[in-house]
Amino acid sequence: MAGQLLDGKAIAKKVRAEVKQRAEAFFEAHGRKPGLHVVLVGEDPASQVYVRNKERAAGKAGLDGHVHRLPADTTQADLEALVAKLNADPAIDGILVQLPLPEQLEAQPVLDLIDPSKDVDGLTPMSAGLLMDGRPGLRPCTPSGCMRMLEETGVELEGKRALVVGRSLLVGKPVALMLLAKNATVTMAHSRTKELAARVAEADVVVAAVGRAELVKGEWVKEGAVVLDVGINRNEEGKLIGDVEFAAAKERASWITPVPGGVGPMTIAMLLANTVTAAERREAGKD
Ligand code: NAD
Repeated sequence: MAGQLLDGKAIAKKVRAEVKQRAEAFFEAHGRKPGLHVVLVGEDPASQVYVRNKERAAGKAGLDGHVHRLPADTTQADLEALVAKLNADPAIDGILVQLPLPEQLEAQPVLDLIDPSKDVDGLTPMSAGLLMDGRPGLRPCTPSGCMRMLEETGVELEGKRALVVGRSLLVGKPVALMLLAKNATVTMAHSRTKELAARVAEADVVVAAVGRAELVKGEWVKEGAVVLDVGINRNEEGKLIGDVEFAAAKERASWITPVPGGVGPMTIAMLLANTVTAAERREAGKD
């Protein structure tokens, strides 16, 4: 039986519509829009596109999206001073520093400075710690997108075997913790894992976040498994492909995300959702 397609574009659209409603309610209640401020240093072409997309998506969803464009030769002190200023501004609910930074800048001290209540990227040590502890906090966007997609399948995660392939701070580790929080039995695979095929074959849910084209073979996938493919790779013809051998995996999976059009579109949608959540929580905290 061929699996059903988990359509990231459609689910992201639904998330953005929910965000818009919440942003409107927020505006009614507080007389201002939730504010998302993105800091872009330098002229990295890919980052410029990502940032423009975030700004545009924020505006469409009823948020106040703003980009701070700093020159490539910005100093560490100037960048940190800007983050401190954004932290102190009560009308700003979300701060995102677009990575990578130019060579002369160190990212970690900048991320460490971001007020956790405004950490809409969910990548600061405080947000990671809150996730680890199962406490409320802002979660990283791509893993949140994965969890939202799983929710949309209606598949119960409790007691299921979940395999996360990849252990980055951006995707692998947080998604593993989120699956654990849903009471799945979680295995993490990485570059040193032996018998990846056997681990995949046991899994009811597979999240692949590696960045190696078609590393996960379709024939490894357990019959009826849910497969989320986070990977973005280009093949020789320049076509985008995922970390999972899609066509073969689809034959065995119950649900599977395509690449492109799967997990990818969820990331910005979850960033917008995080911004509204941050705004609501910050205003509630003032009572
Ligand atoms: P990363 O390079 O930081 O981490 C890759 C992980 O894969 C590492 O933990 C490594 O241990 C593991 N790995 C490497 N080779 C492996 C192997 N042979 N078997 C098993 N594991 C192996 O990458 P990342 O930032 O986590 O991103 C992973 C992929 O997801 C990339 O293709 C990236 O472009 C994509 N991505 C997509 C989105 C999105 O859709 N919005 C967001 C973030 C990342």
